[in-house]
Amino acid sequence: MNFQIAILEGDGVGPEIVKEAVLLLNHIGEQYGHSFEFQYGKIGGLAVDEEGTPLPERTVELCKKSDAVLLGAVGGPKWDNETAERRPEAGLLQIRKELQLFANIRPVKVFETLADTSPLKEEVIKDVDFVIVRELTGGIYFGTPRERRMTENGLEVIDTLVYKESEIERILREAFELANQRNKKLTSVDKANVLESSRVWRECANTLSKHYPEVELQHMLVDNAAMQLIKNPSQFDVIVTENMFGDILSDEASVITGSIGLLPSASLGVGPSLYEPIHGSAPDIAGQNSANPLATLSSVALMLRYSLGLHQEAQDIEEAIEAVLHYGYRTKDLAGPSEKFLTTTEMGEKVRTTLTSKKVIMN
Ligand code: NAD
Repeated sequence: MNFQIAILEGDGVGPEIVKEAVLLLNHIGEQYGHSFEFQYGKIGGLAVDEEGTPLPERTVELCKKSDAVLLGAVGGPKWDNETAERRPEAGLLQIRKELQLFANIRPVKVFETLADTSPLKEEVIKDVDFVIVRELTGGIYFGTPRERRMTENGLEVIDTLVYKESEIERILREAFELANQRNKKLTSVDKANVLESSRVWRECANTLSKHYPEVELQHMLVDNAAMQLIKNPSQFDVIVTENMFGDILSDEASVITGSIGLLPSASLGVGPSLYEPIHGSAPDIAGQNSANPLATLSSVALMLRYSLGLHQEAQDIEEAIEAVLHYGYRTKDLAGPSEKFLTTTEMGEKVRTTLTSKKVIMN
């Protein structure tokens, strides 16, 4: 089959990790008889420098006509003093809005072989395997008014949290569907003891729950959820929550696995979906060929599964990554102080060769 993939490398380590993802896709193409055509678009700081905006119209058009979008990461200190509209991160928010990517899916799985790299005790993280479903296009990150204004009592500042009932329903539906395909346990996280939006969120979840009688629905306040993620993370199967809570909880959850360089994400919506590692542009290690590419390679697996319907290929990538880690290969972020480690390019190559040998064994 032929697929058109939009590639947005972004800033910092973005180009380094995306290069490995493209090599992996080409490898999958050769091994399984598919063809991937890549079109590159600008986003983030590079786009600000070259085109004066973090998301040029051309990039939006390119993404809209693709089967899926692969993104590295955006941002860096160089652009920290830009105005809000010219900040690289504004490009990210905008592309999510343009592609109506309302559901961000973040799987959190502990690789048994990496249990010692987690800051949590081994017995706490045993069997951790859950997915966070975060609402991505509504809530306080998008609500207006958002402004500073001078009043007679001094500076006043406003951010606005707005949700339409339909926006809440569609993200909850995604989460129920996912829970239904997994272990049938859904934890809906809110702040219903304080926020009106959370109370409506809870009502919607209860109503939808009647259509999914096999899924056990549990409500949890966000402050408790933050605690439970550290105390007893293996209790979760699917967690669903609004935009800002999801942003914070999913970063917290990433720590459980030992490195932020391991976790992929999928942002699904109405049109083409977008896949990216959950980490940022890591400017502190950019250009050193030392970033961990595994989060991006796992994002490729999610792309194959969710957007391109290549389930076997997706599973084979995930198993190859697990095998590479099992054999003891590490990038710098995962290696102990005296342990040897692979560069970004070496790790990418290790995953590809493992995939080939696995396929040879299977055949
Ligand atoms: P970050 O995720 O870039 O880095 C945090 C720490 O994790 C750093 O020490 C970094 O070296 C390390 N790290 C990140 N990815 C790694 C990888 N693949 N392998 C090894 N180590 C890795 O977060 P930050 O430092 O807070 O932000 C840097 C920039 O990235 C900022 O401009 C921020 O706005 C931006 N950012 C972008 C995205 C995105 O594009 N989706 C997400 C978060 C942050």
